[in-house]
Amino acid sequence: MGYQIPRGTQDILPGTVEKWQYVENKAREICSRYNYKEIRTPIFEHTELFLRSVGDTTDIVQKEMYTFTDRGERSLTLRPEGTASAVRSYVENKLFGLPHQPTKLYYIGPMFRYERPQAGRYRQFVQFGIEAMGSDDPSIDAEVMALAMDVYKELGLKRLRLVLNTLGDKESRKAHRDALVAHFEPRIGEFCHDCQNRLQTNPLRILDCKKDRDHELMKTAPSIHDYLNEESRNYFETVKSTLTAMGIDFVIDPTLVRGLDYYNHTAFEIMSDAEGFGAITTLSGGGRYNGLAEEIGGPATPGIGFAMSLERLLLALDAEGVTLPIEDSLDCYLVAMGESAKEKAPSILYQLRKAGLKADKDYMDKKMKAQFKAADRTNAKFVAVLGDDELANGVISVKEMESGNQTEVELEEVTQYILKQI
Ligand code: ATP
Ligand code: MG
Repeated sequence: MGYQIPRGTQDILPGTVEKWQYVENKAREICSRYNYKEIRTPIFEHTELFLRSVGDTTDIVQKEMYTFTDRGERSLTLRPEGTASAVRSYVENKLFGLPHQPTKLYYIGPMFRYERPQAGRYRQFVQFGIEAMGSDDPSIDAEVMALAMDVYKELGLKRLRLVLNTLGDKESRKAHRDALVAHFEPRIGEFCHDCQNRLQTNPLRILDCKKDRDHELMKTAPSIHDYLNEESRNYFETVKSTLTAMGIDFVIDPTLVRGLDYYNHTAFEIMSDAEGFGAITTLSGGGRYNGLAEEIGGPATPGIGFAMSLERLLLALDAEGVTLPIEDSLDCYLVAMGESAKEKAPSILYQLRKAGLKADKDYMDKKMKAQFKAADRTNAKFVAVLGDDELANGVISVKEMESGNQTEVELEEVTQYILKQI
């Protein structure tokens, strides 16, 4: 009997994991350029945190959470997203009290949602996200979008679309909400069960419904843009003009709403227009969440962030045919023939590695020819061959694979020799 991996999860094996590492390193590098610092929070949190922050009318909370009771009868949930934990930690650790504000954080780690698995949708997936807390300067909204776009662009993606909207402030949202209820209420019976519930709890969510998206009332629904008060409109204008001044293209979509309840003002998604990317075209989403810290017991704090899954990012790279410049070769493969040479090999290898070289040898008692084959497979830049005769003379033969040049080197000098060549 064998075991199979749980549905919606994946093993990332050597050969593929290098891509993940490359992408993660790129994300980290860009964060450090933008002065965002990493935060690591637990994989599980008290369930209540997600109910309060993500919002109990969202798909995530209603049907996607991995919730369990631990042996101490506490309800815990595997985190479905990263913002709630980051804001919880910001409040709990009083990061707002630190001298440098805003607090700019990033995270990379697994998230869990009970979803129907398909390409680009998994039950465990890795999100890279950032959160900037403590500032409501519209230029930080632009910074957050710029950072997300930089990750995609610098990895080589071209078919990108930044879609931008505003959800307005509390007052604007309230006015829009009332208009939405008035719009949908008379014919709500024609909508799905979820939307019927959403009408009173959170009518904005109706606009994000995947089942009813083609209903005629969707197209004529009142737009938030007609309900923005002056402050919200000015805020949005500044976000747009800042992006324009930075040379970052975007399109406005007044129907864009995000899947989480905590957003206000800026909301955005980055989509892939690559052919063959599949049904799911959203690469990442984010926005402003000015009420969130307060909602979970902290001081009133403006915040903005985004999250992208690395799974969808890698799918987009595939769809656009981008090959990442991944360097995965050894500096030296040590081939040893004969009893004494084999005995000597481990200490030579150890010297090479201690000097910082990537080096390996055979452990399967292979014949000479098979050892050379193995060396080939590792893309070794140098192959060092040690036979009993060489050993007796205190030398080792070093072949540079690209040129085919072969040199005899004093055994003592082999590390220095290869270091010099590389
Ligand atoms: P969708 O509408 O695709 O379900 P969402 O609104 O649930 O997206 P968010 O919660 O905003 O997405 O998450 C941000 C990003 O995380 C998404 O844009 C996507 O890149 C990624 N993501 C979300 N759910 C999954 C998943 N199940 N598998 C892989 N990536 C995911
Ligand atoms: Mg979702």
